[in-house]
Amino acid sequence: KTVFISGANGYIAQHIIKQLLKDNKYRVIGSVRSEDKADRIGQQFKSPNLTLEVVPDISKLNAFDNLFQKHGKDIKVVLHTSSPVSYSTDDYEKDVLLPAINGTRSVLEAIKKYCPQTVEKVVITSSYAAVAGSKQEYQRGTVITEDTWNPVTWEEAISGAEAYSGSKTFAEKAAWDFWNANRDQVKFEMTVINPVFVFGPQAFDQNVGKKLNASCEIINRYLNTTPETEVDQKKAGSFIDVRDLARAHLAAFENAELAGQRLIVAAARFSFQDIVDVLNEDFPQLKGKIAIGKPGAGKRRLKEISVLDNSKTKKLLGIDFMPFSKSIDDTVDQILKARGQ
Ligand code: NDP
Repeated sequence: KTVFISGANGYIAQHIIKQLLKDNKYRVIGSVRSEDKADRIGQQFKSPNLTLEVVPDISKLNAFDNLFQKHGKDIKVVLHTSSPVSYSTDDYEKDVLLPAINGTRSVLEAIKKYCPQTVEKVVITSSYAAVAGSKQEYQRGTVITEDTWNPVTWEEAISGAEAYSGSKTFAEKAAWDFWNANRDQVKFEMTVINPVFVFGPQAFDQNVGKKLNASCEIINRYLNTTPETEVDQKKAGSFIDVRDLARAHLAAFENAELAGQRLIVAAARFSFQDIVDVLNEDFPQLKGKIAIGKPGAGKRRLKEISVLDNSKTKKLLGIDFMPFSKSIDDTVDQILKARGQ
């Protein structure tokens, strides 16, 4: 079976590709933004089963047409992961919202145009940011489930404050709208994955740079603190290890029961203080060098915020998620190794 994945060089996408290529299970076609990125990824995976194509600008509504014209007839599964995550811009509409929304629409339109009866499954990587905004997330008494939507408005999104969460919310809405409008004209079933904070090692040690992808950078930043650095006691969320999230992406198309679902892929809640606690407890070489905050205070914070009930997703996936300390430990082990510490 051939699987197409957009944003093949992304942190999460590389883990998905690793699992797809394992045991020669699937052939993979991946899109990246430039030849350079294609070369780099190709050299890392060194697999005859991985083909890379350049899709320079996913904001264009026909962005994926050439790729699907060329490979569409072979592709059975489409995983759409590419979307702006780290950006520095003043034009949030052009650089964040439109790539997210039009990227999603252009993948779906290309399927409809070139292979409506042969693509069997589409998996969209949305985000927990499309489920809940920080107001709901930090509101005691609120219960968040797979039916919850972030109420973010277009105005809040283009002003920048809510650019990322808006981009993910409107892109996911565009996917469901497409599906509802076109379900009679395409064969595929769709599943949406809404991951929370994703931690865990990079797929390849060489990918550890000074700065990491946005979610792992949260951990990396604490490695560059001092004992005097304050730890924000309010910040909290939920986490998932990237290897479990990759498994969830495979399950999303391999397991027919997951068709039509919105999956909040989250192992458990954590507070940012909990990250600092794991660093200090598990890495003696960091003790006395990095932030300490208020050890143990994280658990209290979690009682003050909303409750995430993703029991439906957990039941559907049936994956035994990696615990928090293991995910943090593996992330940091790899960083320290890369730095020779
Ligand atoms: P990365 O930044 O590592 O990957 C993002 C991918 O999207 C890269 O391939 C990147 O390409 C591509 N991309 C970004 N902007 C554009 C653009 N304007 N045009 C074309 N391609 C673009 O992040 P992750 O792996 O973490 O994210 C992957 C997906 O998972 C995203 O959809 C993200 O929203 C979602 N997600 C991530 C979470 C996390 O905690 N990591 C949590 C929830 C959802 P390039 O390298 O060329 O920029």
